[in-house]
Amino acid sequence: MRELETALVQLPAKLDPLRRDLEKLEGMLAGERGKLSETENWQKGQRDYIDRERESLRSAQTKFQASKNSKEFNAASREVENKRKAISDRETELKKVSEATTVQVTAMSSRDADVEGLRGELAKGEAAMADQLQSLRSQHAEALTMRDTARGQVEKQWLKIYDSLVGKRGYAVAPVIKGVCQGCHMALPPQLNNILARMQSIETCPRCGRLVYRKELLDPPADPAATTDAPPTTKA
Ligand SMILES: [Zn+2]
Repeated sequence: MRELETALVQLPAKLDPLRRDLEKLEGMLAGERGKLSETENWQKGQRDYIDRERESLRSAQTKFQASKNSKEFNAASREVENKRKAISDRETELKKVSEATTVQVTAMSSRDADVEGLRGELAKGEAAMADQLQSLRSQHAEALTMRDTARGQVEKQWLKIYDSLVGKRGYAVAPVIKGVCQGCHMALPPQLNNILARMQSIETCPRCGRLVYRKELLDPPADPAATTDAPPTTKA
């Protein structure tokens, strides 16, 4: 029961490292996406600026063509020159940023693929685990039924002792191997070991208080076929 309960907690936790990786990668991507959208806004602003500058370049060119004297001509000429330079500078900068953005978009799409891969892996792991978890849950339910049935066959006073030992010692029953209690590793008095061999009474370890039994009498190491309590299989 305890092993099953531990497995039911530990199994879903196995995917936690994958979940953490995915979360980290998704966080990074979201950050990059945010920066990219800032850059795109900036680019849009720059393009709008360039459009406005082109508009004002056209009006400067009109002024230039309409200049009536050298003073107007010089002023208009400077204005046209300045506008051209401003536009050209912006375009150069915008081109650099656009190239960098293209690189960034490519890198991000590769990272998107990584995230997709991890998501797939996680979903696959969860699906595989769902079957395992389901099987553990039904094993647990089965064990619970078996335990309750077994408890129904034991006198209340021993159940009380058993439960109190579980609470105090973690587990209540200990096998004895070669005269040694496996719960506390103390050698039992030889007389007690002999009483255990008769298998007529429930005995407790004098040191740890656990319910003890001689392992070789309950779980004979010999022929496994002799101890199986599985229903006989139908043979063809
Ligand atoms: Zn003991």
